[in-house]
Order: sequence, then C-alpha cells, then structure tokens
Amino acid sequence: MFSRLIGNEEVKDALRHLLASGRMPGSLLFTGEAGIGKKLFALELAKALNCRNRVGVEACDECSSCRRIENSIFPPFSDAKDNNERMIWSEHGDVAMVRPYKQIIRVKPMRELEGEANFRPFEGAARVFIVEDAEYMNDSASAALLKTLEEPQPTTHLILTTTNPTALLATIRSRCQVIRFAPVAAEQIEKFLIEEKAISATDAALLARTSQGSFGRACASDLDDYRERREAMLAILKALTITGNRVQLLRSAEGLGAASDRADYEESLAVLEALIRDAWALHLGRPAETIVNSDLVNDLGKIAAELNSQKAASWLSEIEELRGTLEVNINKKIASDALLMRMAAA
Ligand SMILES: [Zn+2]
Repeated sequence: MFSRLIGNEEVKDALRHLLASGRMPGSLLFTGEAGIGKKLFALELAKALNCRNRVGVEACDECSSCRRIENSIFPPFSDAKDNNERMIWSEHGDVAMVRPYKQIIRVKPMRELEGEANFRPFEGAARVFIVEDAEYMNDSASAALLKTLEEPQPTTHLILTTTNPTALLATIRSRCQVIRFAPVAAEQIEKFLIEEKAISATDAALLARTSQGSFGRACASDLDDYRERREAMLAILKALTITGNRVQLLRSAEGLGAASDRADYEESLAVLEALIRDAWALHLGRPAETIVNSDLVNDLGKIAAELNSQKAASWLSEIEELRGTLEVNINKKIASDALLMRMAAA
C-alpha cells in the first residue's frame, strides 16, 4: 500500500486517482532527485496493478503477487558482460526493469523490452516495465523506446524514472504522463532512520538534515566520513574568521587539494558551503535548530560573530566559480590554494 512509503503524499493521491479511474496511462515519467523513492513507488504501482486481492485500489501486500514484487531484488551487475546488456526480471513474470550499465542504457535491453511489451500479461493483470535513470539511454535505445510507446498494449505500462527529464527526447517526454517527486521532509527521514534502521537520535538527525530530502543519500551516507570531512572544513572557516591563522589555512588548502577524485573534492566543497550557509544564518539571527549542522552551533556561533553578509556571499560565489571550472581537468592543489587565499582576502 502506498501508505507504507514515506513522503510525496501528492504523488500517492495522483496514483490512487489514476488507479481508481481505471485509466492508468501506458507510460509514466517519474521525475525528481536521486534517492527520493521513485523506484519504490514504481514497484508499489506494479503491485497494485497486479494484486489478486486489492484493498480499494491498492495492493494488499499479502497475496503471492504482491509479495514477489515486493521482494524483487534486482541484482547488481556482474562482470559477465552478456548479463549486463539485458532486461532484469523481478520474481514476478510480468514485472521487469532496465537500468544503465556504466552510465549507458544501450539498445539491446530496450529491444528486449519492446518485444516483451507486446505480450499480454503472463500471470497477472498488467505488464510493468521500469526504465531506471532513463536519461542514460543512448540514441538507439531512445529510438527503440519511441517505437514501444507508439503502439502500446492496453495491459502494458512503462514507468521511466529520471533525475533529469530535459535530457530525454521531447518526443518521449510528450508521450508520458509526468509525475513529479519532491524531496522528503527531514523530519520524516529522521523518524524512519530511528524507527526502521535503529539509528541513534543524534546520528539520525544529522543524516536527515544533510541528505537534502533524499532517502537514498541518508541511508548510504557514512557519518564517520562526513564528520571527518566536516571537521577539516570547519578548520578552514575558523582560520578565516576567529584565529586568522595562515599556516592552518595553507595546511587546510593542502588537505582539500589532496582529494582523491572530483566527486571527493565536490563533496568537500559542498560541506564547506553548508557550513558557510549555517554560519551566515546564525549571523542573521536565525534559530539554531533550523541550520543543517545544528550540532556544531557553538563553533558556528563563534564564526558567525566574526562574519558579515558580504563576506559570506563572496565566499559562496568563489566556491561556485571554482565548481564551474571542475568540468575541465584542473589541478586541485593549485585551485584550492587560490580559493582559500581569495576567501581570506574577501
Ligand atoms: Zn496483493
């Protein structure tokens, strides 16, 4: 049942409404950030469409069809290349998924989908095919999908998920009913982490606030890693405001520049930005419980006392500018030195 899923109440209402109307579109496009539940909602919809004992318009969660779709494990890709270019079946004979392998969806699994989409349901009432991260389809995969969308079987439903709908062909978008997902509220993520994942209240609060409404991110985050990174970024802000310690600043620049790769580097920049925003918010008199790193309110309060809006704004724009240059292969060490020197001069 949709009530098991967390957040996105409007989406639940929209899907219930479509189920009740009996006019579920042949193709749906679920859009929204990574990790906010698009695939879980797609599977829940597949359950409702195939349930043998519906409760109202929703899945009963108990019949064998519901249980098999619910327990679907889409295994990670193996090294055997053959398997990676195929559609992946759930434990239910009418529910399958295509997803990118190494950030590409090629034509082969989409042709397989095209063929399977023509069949009547094998064991349930509807065939449901999920295309995860559909923006990764290459041109020939997109062409195969377009053909599938042209002559839909009334019992076949395609659900595309994407974080970036504009990367899809307009002709694909226009054939799908778009369902927009919103970030999940921090309180809901926090409650879930405490109740379902048995995570301590302190850690749950921090994970929920740093996850930007993404469940997936909250569950996958490594808090030890985050805290270590945050400590290093906090040292930068202290050196810039409270201590004025240039040696510390140079050492910090070195640490930042030693990032193992671009993702690692961007992660540190994102943490630095969040700390600046928090300190700025405190400087403006916002309540401590509204900031992301509210467990650091003492340190951030001291930084806030030395801060002004002009400085905070110029720091953020320096970081933003640096982020823009990361597309090209820059020298992270030189860039980090330059960033912190500019921030010190702001
Ligand atoms: Zn059922």
